[in-house]
Amino acid sequence: MPAKGVLVAVTADVVIAGGGVIGTAIAWRAAAAGLDVVLADPAHGDAASLVAAGMLAPVSEALFGEGALLRVNLLALARFPSFAAELEQVTGHRVGLRREGTLAVAYDAGDYAALTRLTAFRRSAGLEAEELDSRACRKLESFLTPDVHGGVLFPGDWSVDNRRYVAALREAAASAGVRVVRDRVTAVLTAGGADGADGAGGADARVRGVALAEGGEIGSGRVVVAAGSWSGAVRGLPAGLRSAVRPVKGQLLRLRHPDGMPPVLTHTIRATVRGADVYLVPRADGEVIVGATQEERGPDLTVTAGAVHDLLHDAMSVLPVTSELILAETCAGLRPGTPDNGPIVGEAGPGAPGGLLLATGHYRNGILMSAATADASVACLTGRAPAPEWEPFGPGRFLTGEGAR
Ligand SMILES: Cc1cc2nc3c(=O)[nH]c(=O)nc-3n(C[C@H](O)[C@H](O)[C@H](O)COP(=O)(O)OP(=O)(O)OC[C@H]3O[C@@H](n4cnc5c(N)ncnc54)[C@H](O)[C@@H]3O)c2cc1C
Repeated sequence: MPAKGVLVAVTADVVIAGGGVIGTAIAWRAAAAGLDVVLADPAHGDAASLVAAGMLAPVSEALFGEGALLRVNLLALARFPSFAAELEQVTGHRVGLRREGTLAVAYDAGDYAALTRLTAFRRSAGLEAEELDSRACRKLESFLTPDVHGGVLFPGDWSVDNRRYVAALREAAASAGVRVVRDRVTAVLTAGGADGADGAGGADARVRGVALAEGGEIGSGRVVVAAGSWSGAVRGLPAGLRSAVRPVKGQLLRLRHPDGMPPVLTHTIRATVRGADVYLVPRADGEVIVGATQEERGPDLTVTAGAVHDLLHDAMSVLPVTSELILAETCAGLRPGTPDNGPIVGEAGPGAPGGLLLATGHYRNGILMSAATADASVACLTGRAPAPEWEPFGPGRFLTGEGAR
């Protein structure tokens, strides 16, 4: 029962806490599957989803020791085109999907050797890679610096205009009947256990809705926590899950071509300059994204002069013509990081209240994983099993104490 004096103004089949790319993609698909969905989010302004570079890059993101993450990223990439095509069809808006691939370039023999080792690993995982000498790199991208020693083309990486994509998701969700409540979820409420307490009640507890910052409640038997870097602030999650997500700050620049200037870039470029990774991502509308810093600074969203300087310096080292582009925007966002760099998707599991789902911790790949996360979450919400690639990424791996599996 709701606490005395609290109004349960809204009820739904499912409440989603968080309206970034993840929560909105789930909301759209859940409503399309026939569920009555309420999405709660105080504002969309700080979402990492609007800051991101929009790379769909399972190949150039594949690192030693992250095989399970690679498999789920590849599942996500395979799902993306049909998901985006349906989104474009439903809304009538293009989302800027590009399939030219990533060109990773190296400046010297040492960098090139490191890139070659990574390429051998990626090939051993069945990924496509084409090694190129300096001349071949510059044939692909004529504005690249002549200092490039060589590179590797990864044709399996794509990109999307994440701002257009998120805007289209919001429109699709609204037309599928998703109701939006402009408020922050403070706690998951349970019946049969202690509401809002750490550890979230006993084994018999079930979700009965959420509490809102402005005082109301939304009644629902299923709650999805999709609040990105802020997920751990929602009370009522088991302690292990509350501490599993941390913010990893990223600063990024948006550049624009001056009127009349032809595009300076076709592929996404990645490089290491003075030990720091930099990427440049072209958009169909003439934007070039330059990113990104990777900083452990808690929930800090300031843009610093040093980061802007370093990103511009590194971008100009790779592509000197960058200096002629217009600096249109500087921004910072918080990637929802986890201890093993993997997302947290699925039923919260034993020791957590029944009906509680998580869809968070997508770290550097939330745009890429959004469509596949929506599929997995809707599978859970409708009593089906998610694809097997999700098995290593359930919330259970972070449950401790009585909830541990
Ligand atoms: C610089 C940078 C570059 C990136 N580049 C890429 C890339 O190229 N490709 C890629 O795939 N990913 C990239 N990412 C990662 C990607 O942006 C994230 O993984 C993704 O946006 C996470 O989405 P989300 O919906 O979980 O979180 P967010 O987008 O952060 O959204 C969370 C939402 O939850 C809301 N919220 C917070 N607390 C509450 C609450 N208590 N109740 C209700 N709502 C709440 C917030 O208002 C927000 O709208 C990048 C990230 C950064 C910062």
